[in-house]
Amino acid sequence: MRNAGLGSWPERRRTISPHRDALWFEGVTTSHRQFSDRIRRVAGALAGLGVRPGDRVGWLGTNHPAALETLYACGQLGAVWVPVNARLTAPEARYVLDHSGASVVVHGKDHGSIADALRPLTHVRHWVAVEAPHGESLPYEELLTDPEFRDLNVALEDPCLIMYTSGTTGRPKGAVLTHGNMTWNAVNQFMGMDFAQDERTLALAPLFHIGGLNGTVNPTLLRGGCAVLVRRFDPAETLAVIEEQRVTSFFAVPTMLDAMSREEGFRTRDLSALRTIGAAGAPLPLPTLRTWLDRGVTMQQCYGMTEAAPGCTVLDSADAVRKVGSAGKPVFFTDLRVVRPDGTEAAPDEVGEVVVQGPNIMAGYWNDPVRTAEVLVNGWYHTGDAGSIDDEGYLFIRDRFKDMIISGGENVYPAEVESALLELPGVLEAAVIGVPDEKWGEVGVAFVVASGGTAPDAVRDALRERLAGFKVPREIRLVPALPKTATGKIYKPDLRKELQS
Ligand code: ATP
Ligand code: MG
Repeated sequence: MRNAGLGSWPERRRTISPHRDALWFEGVTTSHRQFSDRIRRVAGALAGLGVRPGDRVGWLGTNHPAALETLYACGQLGAVWVPVNARLTAPEARYVLDHSGASVVVHGKDHGSIADALRPLTHVRHWVAVEAPHGESLPYEELLTDPEFRDLNVALEDPCLIMYTSGTTGRPKGAVLTHGNMTWNAVNQFMGMDFAQDERTLALAPLFHIGGLNGTVNPTLLRGGCAVLVRRFDPAETLAVIEEQRVTSFFAVPTMLDAMSREEGFRTRDLSALRTIGAAGAPLPLPTLRTWLDRGVTMQQCYGMTEAAPGCTVLDSADAVRKVGSAGKPVFFTDLRVVRPDGTEAAPDEVGEVVVQGPNIMAGYWNDPVRTAEVLVNGWYHTGDAGSIDDEGYLFIRDRFKDMIISGGENVYPAEVESALLELPGVLEAAVIGVPDEKWGEVGVAFVVASGGTAPDAVRDALRERLAGFKVPREIRLVPALPKTATGKIYKPDLRKELQS
């Protein structure tokens, strides 16, 4: 039976819009018809390697057409795609491959050495390399079959992929996202972000992260537009590609937008085709938002997470200034509440835990019923994020409860302190964490990347003018750089370790 699963999208596109652009990568444009041919051929190759419905297929690499080809091919076979964060070390990648039980792994050219290191250690039966050198891996192109149509027999409830979370707070969890989750997320994105048929979206964030994959890329392909792929994020090159490819939209985390805004190309490049940027993954600091708005680009602050495939809320561009700092309102088919610890609904502006429910919410964590039961309660996904809803229904995310600092009985949300720090001249990046303190219970320590000549005492004095005393970090440490996850988020566990050592 043919159905509406992800694997059917390219099949429908080859009928409806065969000649429109589907992909651009390193100077080569692929039409929707050609893309669907490739997917059929990759599905044939994977089936030839013994991949059956329900089997897991790993993808290990930076952004490349093969990432999408293997995802959609799995979708046609009823197999489950497992993207592996390309910046993981061999032992971390091994954890993901072993935990998911991948039987085949397709990898990019930069990941041959990880493949070599892991080959004897994991249960993976076949390693496939998409680009030379192939080493001991099978050559991808040589495995491809003729592009045959196959009957798709996949239900919307079937798993489509296992996406491991960013691991910002600890060991990544494997969120099982179904074909239905993928479809409904795309529909939610269409409703919130006005995707056009001629969308040319830039795959800037990594495709192994849910924002990079489903923020704009998969919705654009479903809509019949084109995904412009760059291997990895480079601020100056990205601005050049936006100009040359007439990019209309992309999804990015705030640190990326900030890095781009500091490039010369930010002022000199033609960015006029850009309609929308979806910013999510972390709160967008005010200065960054202002810089992009001043450049004439529509900014949509979004809020989401791997477990929600990922979209949960979006701030309409008309509200960007009036409601600055808000994550907006729930996406169309998703319900969102802020609740107290006893489960009752918080009053307007009262901080509680953000919980979400809808057809985009994951089936659960792979092979982890305990953690699944902790977060999926009566159909509601408990995000662990502290937030509040104002009297007009706009969501404000404070921070993660795990990162919240309780100082002298007062709750301090590091994100608020970081935002204040970033408004100070000379401060480029900032991260605040809590450390135990005998008198106050906990106090904040700020790690700051600053331009030359910035003195910690001056930073503290400036903060005192902006924030209540209990929110001002006890210590400001100037550092050359902050540790980041592969998705560009500041990795606080490393900062905590640094303080302990
Ligand atoms: P892990 O769950 O492994 O610790 P992670 O939560 O960072 O990692 P993701 O699923 O990539 O992994 O990120 C989702 C989280 O990012 C949200 O739960 C929230 O804490 C944060 N986030 C996303 N969007 C926003 C936003 N607009 N404002 C503030 N925080 C956000
Ligand atoms: Mg999380």
